[in-house]
Amino acid sequence: MTRVFNFCAGPAALPEAVLARARDELLDWHGRGLSVMEMSHRGKDMVGIAEKAEADLRELLGVSDDYAVLFLQGGATAQFAAVPLNLLGTAGKADYVNTGQWSVKAIAEAQKYCEVNVAASSEATRFTGVPAQSVWQRSPAAAYLHYTPNETIGGVEYGWVPEVGATPLVADMSSTILSRPIDVNRFGVIYAGAQKNIGPAGLVLVIVRRELLGRPDPRTPAVLDWTLQAKNASMYNTPPTYSIYLAGLVFQWLKDQGGLAAMGEVNRRKAEALYGYIDASGFYANPVEKASRSWMNVPFTVADAALEKPFVAEAEKAGLLYLEGHRSVGGMRASIYNAVGMDAVNALIDFMKDFAARKG
Ligand SMILES: *Cc1c(COP(=O)(O)O)cnc(C)c1O
Repeated sequence: MTRVFNFCAGPAALPEAVLARARDELLDWHGRGLSVMEMSHRGKDMVGIAEKAEADLRELLGVSDDYAVLFLQGGATAQFAAVPLNLLGTAGKADYVNTGQWSVKAIAEAQKYCEVNVAASSEATRFTGVPAQSVWQRSPAAAYLHYTPNETIGGVEYGWVPEVGATPLVADMSSTILSRPIDVNRFGVIYAGAQKNIGPAGLVLVIVRRELLGRPDPRTPAVLDWTLQAKNASMYNTPPTYSIYLAGLVFQWLKDQGGLAAMGEVNRRKAEALYGYIDASGFYANPVEKASRSWMNVPFTVADAALEKPFVAEAEKAGLLYLEGHRSVGGMRASIYNAVGMDAVNALIDFMKDFAARKG
């Protein structure tokens, strides 16, 4: 069997070692004679799997006991609603920073529940950068500030964490979580859909400072109620057990790689190699300001847009999958998450060189 190099933005590549282990354990988990998918979520095996996944995640990210860790359903999109429902309290207002299409979706959802103050936006520069904090116009009445540390479609990443004083900082880390170390204590809430750097689609991870619990809007659906879910160890309803198991295998794999400092070093080198080639090529271009270039999602264009379709088709034939840009922006995009190694990046650069030599 040959596995392709998978540059999909999500659902994305998973580490081969994780898939092989899941295959080996599929019919008979640890000699118990059944699959993880068939286990009661209240039984000691599945509870143990979930507890181990949480413990490994806490160790990887350095999450203290001041924070609850939740494994919920509905992806990051469900959390676009959960954030205002759980955090507004008696405030009617929240701050959002708009750096691209995922920010826009988070804002649209929050507007169903409160007044949104867009504290800053990079829309005027076609989302090719991050607005400096010196130009942000925050509202004193805001219950929290929400931002998107990595915009998956535009390939725009903050190289810094905003300073918001006592206001809870809320981050949609779907496409950057676990790609390098972070200081969790700077955040009130971190959430991340799983299908980029964690595991299968549908699962969403929520890390919330415990002192922010206890004030959900009374209309909050039970499955989105962080306070209720924290009290029930994410098992108020039946959780996505198999996805939690796979996420746990990914966390173990990350620990085996040396943790997030080691992962961050690899990711920095992967990004440097790819942007370095794009900039030097004279054939490809990346529109994002250098300080805000994403380590995980690398969009690129060619001067002649008629070459985009042949690029993607020929890449696919060469075993390099999903290099088309998002349907809303066109061009190409390579997502180089944790499970996409330096070998994949080198194979992509070799293909890009060959394509440029033939078509340039
Ligand atoms: C993928 C993504 C989402 C949406 O995830 P769903 O699982 O489709 O809800 C939200 N925010 C960011 C930054 C993403 O990359």
